[in-house]
Amino acid sequence: MQRYDVIIIGAGPSGAIASKTCAEKGLSTLLLEKEGLPRFKLCGGAVSMSALSHVDFGIERDLIEREGYGERVHFKNRQIEVRRKSRMAILVSRDKFDVFLVSKAVDAGVELHDIEKARSLNQKQSAIVVETNKGEYNAKVVIGADGVNSIVSRYVREPYKPEELGLCIAAEIPASNAEVDEYIENAVDIHYGIAKFGYGWVFPKEKHFSVGVGGNLSSMKNSRNIFMIFLKKLGFSTDVITHAHLIPSGGYEREVCSDRIILVGDAAGFVDPFYGEGIKYAFISGKLAAERVAESYENDDFSKSALDSYKTLCRTMFGENLKYSLRLTRLMNKYPNIFFRLLSSDKKVLDKGLEVSAERMEYKEYLRWLIPRVPYFMLKALLPF
Ligand SMILES: Cc1cc2nc3c(=O)[nH]c(=O)nc-3n(C[C@H](O)[C@H](O)[C@H](O)COP(=O)(O)OP(=O)(O)OC[C@H]3O[C@@H](n4cnc5c(N)ncnc54)[C@H](O)[C@@H]3O)c2cc1C
Repeated sequence: MQRYDVIIIGAGPSGAIASKTCAEKGLSTLLLEKEGLPRFKLCGGAVSMSALSHVDFGIERDLIEREGYGERVHFKNRQIEVRRKSRMAILVSRDKFDVFLVSKAVDAGVELHDIEKARSLNQKQSAIVVETNKGEYNAKVVIGADGVNSIVSRYVREPYKPEELGLCIAAEIPASNAEVDEYIENAVDIHYGIAKFGYGWVFPKEKHFSVGVGGNLSSMKNSRNIFMIFLKKLGFSTDVITHAHLIPSGGYEREVCSDRIILVGDAAGFVDPFYGEGIKYAFISGKLAAERVAESYENDDFSKSALDSYKTLCRTMFGENLKYSLRLTRLMNKYPNIFFRLLSSDKKVLDKGLEVSAERMEYKEYLRWLIPRVPYFMLKALLPF
């Protein structure tokens, strides 16, 4: 049986960064991916500048389909737009973007096995064995980067409860670049009030729009219908190929480690519940997990109690922020006519929200800023000052 220092399961953004970092630390690293790369991954493909600040390489120009300098927000008949001078995000197609990330890992010395699905894990006295559809591999530790439907997570925690999951349905709508520019040039379009605990989006891409709706699982039972109504409202054709995908909600307290196993990215549930941003947390958690693994090699300790320092670090770096993001999301959805109305009618409210996405403000601070101002903003929205 082939032996590695570490095996990473899943070659999305979290697995690519985790494996790259492990290889850079001198560990023999196997990266397993069930699909053949490049593989399709349903995603809006908005990668924030704050996400990119967590990787140590630039993104190839060819991968950047559009640049995001602002956000346009809609709620009922209201609409508002905020633009920034500096770039806030890039828009990519995940198939190409993820292959690029994996190529960085391979350059660092990672051994990639795609079209190889991990089936089970077996704890042994001094190692862990990963069984795949092609064979068995032995390592001291496994990083589970296998997304929202993670099999690795079964060895760590309870499955996600339905309320901890969102469902997204989306399609690519072909359009000329001129049509894309005319609809929304270099900004993203967000529609609140379309689905509970979520929103509808129109993101500009190269010769198409990424259009979708995401909301909590229970409110998305009739997701196709919700999506078709959204497409009609926007004036887009409903004759499209749709895809649906689950998304976990961050902000919940969950186990992310057990003996010889660490979860990262969506497998760990690290997604901002308000914006649905997950790539940033995939990058951060992938890197932190790899650093924790390297430390375990120094101390020869792969126990849950040793690995748990990773959980503490995640909580400090972004876990608290995701907790407040969940609070904000709950508050906004409890009183949509107050909060979504504010977001779509007062530039200051939206502008401050963008500060959170740019990592210049935490959700806790945003909530502290927003709540006392609600009566003033409401009056301002009602009265013609
Ligand atoms: C519709 C939608 C839109 C989104 N839009 C955005 C956005 O615009 N910006 C943003 O930041 N985030 C967005 N997100 C969230 C983002 O897509 C995820 O948070 C991110 O992809 C998480 O990365 P990951 O590496 O943890 O998991 P994934 O990207 O899901 O990668 C997991 C990988 O593991 C592989 N795998 C699974 N099981 C196995 C197995 N048993 N063996 C081997 N390999 C396996 C999968 O094939 C996959 O390649 C969106 C999510 C959805 C659903």
